[in-house]
Amino acid sequence: MAVKRVFFFGGGKAEGNGAMKDVLGGKGAGLAEMTSLGVPVPPGFTIGTGACALYYGNRGKLPQDLKSEIATNLSKLERTIGRKLGDPKNPLLVSVRSGAKFSMPGMMDTVLNLGLNDKTVEGLAKKSRNPRFAYDSYCRFLMMFSDVVLDLPRGAFERIIAEKKRERGIASDVDLAAEDLMSVCGAFKALVKERTKKEFPQDARIQLELARDAVFRSWNNDRAKYYRKTNGIPDDTGTAVNVQAMVFGNMGDGCATTGAREQYGEYLVNAQGEDVVAGTRTPRPIRDMKKEFPKVFDQLMRITAKLEKHFRDVQDFEFTVENNTLYMLQTRNGKRTAAAAVKISVDMVKEKLITKEEALFRLEPRQIDQLLHPVIDPKAKLDVIAKGLPASPGAATGAAVFHADKAVEWATEGKDVILVRKETSPDDIHGMDVARGILTAKGGMTSHAAVVARQIGKTCVAGCDTIDVDETTNRFMAGGKVVREGDFISLNGTTGEVILGKAPLIAPAMTGAFAVFMSWADAVRRLKVRANADTQRDARVARNFGAEGIGLCRTEHMFFAEDRIPIMQEMILARTLEDREAALSKLLPMQRDDFKGLYREMKGYPVTIRLLDPPLHEFLPKREELMVEVTKLQLIHADRSIIEEKKRLLERVEELHEFNPMLGLRGCRLGIYYPEITRMQVRAIFEAACDVTRDGIRVHPEVMIPLVSMVGEMRVQKEIVVAVAEETMRRHKRKFPYTVGTMIELPRAAMTADEIATEAEFFSFGTNDLTQTAFGFSRDDSGKFIQHYMKENILEADVFATLDQGGVGQLIRLGLEKGRSTRPTLKVGICGEHAGDPKSVEFCHAIGLDYVSCSPYLVPIARLAAAQAVLREKKTGKAGKK
Ligand code: PEP
Ligand code: MG
Repeated sequence: MAVKRVFFFGGGKAEGNGAMKDVLGGKGAGLAEMTSLGVPVPPGFTIGTGACALYYGNRGKLPQDLKSEIATNLSKLERTIGRKLGDPKNPLLVSVRSGAKFSMPGMMDTVLNLGLNDKTVEGLAKKSRNPRFAYDSYCRFLMMFSDVVLDLPRGAFERIIAEKKRERGIASDVDLAAEDLMSVCGAFKALVKERTKKEFPQDARIQLELARDAVFRSWNNDRAKYYRKTNGIPDDTGTAVNVQAMVFGNMGDGCATTGAREQYGEYLVNAQGEDVVAGTRTPRPIRDMKKEFPKVFDQLMRITAKLEKHFRDVQDFEFTVENNTLYMLQTRNGKRTAAAAVKISVDMVKEKLITKEEALFRLEPRQIDQLLHPVIDPKAKLDVIAKGLPASPGAATGAAVFHADKAVEWATEGKDVILVRKETSPDDIHGMDVARGILTAKGGMTSHAAVVARQIGKTCVAGCDTIDVDETTNRFMAGGKVVREGDFISLNGTTGEVILGKAPLIAPAMTGAFAVFMSWADAVRRLKVRANADTQRDARVARNFGAEGIGLCRTEHMFFAEDRIPIMQEMILARTLEDREAALSKLLPMQRDDFKGLYREMKGYPVTIRLLDPPLHEFLPKREELMVEVTKLQLIHADRSIIEEKKRLLERVEELHEFNPMLGLRGCRLGIYYPEITRMQVRAIFEAACDVTRDGIRVHPEVMIPLVSMVGEMRVQKEIVVAVAEETMRRHKRKFPYTVGTMIELPRAAMTADEIATEAEFFSFGTNDLTQTAFGFSRDDSGKFIQHYMKENILEADVFATLDQGGVGQLIRLGLEKGRSTRPTLKVGICGEHAGDPKSVEFCHAIGLDYVSCSPYLVPIARLAAAQAVLREKKTGKAGKK
């Protein structure tokens, strides 16, 4: 027998069921399940998702056998309901709706009231004894079909209605009489003819074919494609098409439409569902329905309670009341805020309705984010002027400033500021620190702005290339508007939206239920979760969010503070070892204090401290800026000694200039070239540890050598570390455990990990650099073309945000296996930005890493993702690596 592709539901029986979301889509599966449960559902049939694949595989044509299967089901529907599609006397009208396996709200298309034409509209008017209702439905159909199927913009149709209302001197659509609507229908058809050079299709069967194909096409409209990309939904699952008999909420005042249960429910009298969604009329709260339609209300409450029990989750329902008869049109698991999801699932576990394991899947790990940051009030009307990358979540509002110093100045005066830059550099760190949010025109998800913002928990929209930032005149242009210094803007770091003005923010409460929920996740997960933290403040936040140690302390961030950068520059500019050591000795106590703060917060949890990594020029003024400065000083005949000093600085900057600093003197190469830097840092690490142990605090430092590609590099740096560590502990008469390991962030390191592990006691995969070097994509410049690659389907996701499992992931797997082959006890983690991405966390679990280390604000997300990874593994029966 040929494969069944069309599934009927109606008259209390359904050919499909609720478990068939793959084939029927979420909506089709819900309709089938409700029908079998005896819930009143208008009959219809679902053309399965397989047909969508056939449509695309066959250049937009369906095979004959599938067409016959659809025709057979249509006849069955006509028999069940006792009306015929296109019958002028007794017309069947249908809705044609999309419905994919994964909910993609509002992304694909729907056509309602299909089957109306110049003849059936008359039949409907007679049969319903309500010409106004018939022509209202015809208007809606003409407009919707023209928009969805014929690709004619709605605006032109809406103008016709507005014109009619003006002519009649009325404000609301519901006040248009039957004759008005009749003439609007005429104008609509004339518009279609004028634009398409063809009559509006009158044959109801052709209407159905065209609408069905338009729904298939809407699977690949830009909105849907973007939604799938950003929500990790595969592109090849396709949509089903649900063809269902229409019931009418717009036949008069005995009718109502749509809503959900109890306090969240809304309904409209004498309307169709789209009116509720479109917000053209304000719906009434569902409790009013109790007075207006008491019987129907009771029935609705009975049905919804039954369905929630059946689906074991809170449901969103759509319903219609036609002449006091209730019909259920849709049920699906309710969309809710993270706080509500946590509360509901904890309650349901208490009531023994679901298990703890099921509860842990009631929240997407990323949703946790909403619980940790303020968010924009979802009810607010916003003036969105641009959209960039959602680089660091949360929401922020403040006055736009264009320079870090200005940000500090204004913040000190108590103003909220948003730092707007073309891009940020380490020079901006003090401004970023005080700003509520950060907006950059350039850079990707791992650009400086993005990484730092996530780390310090600041909202950030990065790579917003539709804004034109002018840092000399202190303003930016976006969407034809100019934003000047001091003007208020708001950022939504979760969506990437840039909003003009002060968006109202709400701070979601952290409830007790959240702690309970997270404790269940912790009981299940195997992966440890640590945080990337450089300051005591970050470390405290990290512990509060449940971090089990610091997986990466980037020591260079400690030197970007305003009072430290001059000493750092002194160290870099030193021409003799003596001068360099003199500068380093000034840095030593500062570093020591920083480390003490970290140990104090971590109370015995491991603290991985990475030795200096970035190229030195990052601490120096820009070469071009210095050139301009020297020329200016010469022109104004400034003091000779000042000019000479600037020239010396320029000379040193030129000496240090590299064409490709990311591949230049950085990482362990720095410590090998200037071993005195390593010596100072290690002394600070161990002196700090010795000091805090005197207060009875346990410590566990892990010294990490960056950017190693050869075992020899590891060996020479480790020798220094061990010598200084032992000497310091001896001098202070203290003893505590410590380890020396490396970052694996270059392909050669992964390939020779067996050799490197003979020296390294732990590995931490630096997947930012590993991604950069594996692809040869600059992490600071690739935002633009990665977005383009995603549009072109060359890349499925931004590889700097979601780990490329096929390439970079294989390097990790290889590095892990090779490393453990020579050192079976090797501790292995990951500390690139991917460590806070749920999909990447699942991969890290599956291949057997020991921990992930992400920004403090992502720690709870990683904890839940790690728990879900274990549960998914259990479900699929695959045993974990460890
Ligand atoms: C990395 O490369 O993944 C990493 C964590 O180091 P950084 O981002 O500081 O280069
Ligand atoms: Mg790195």
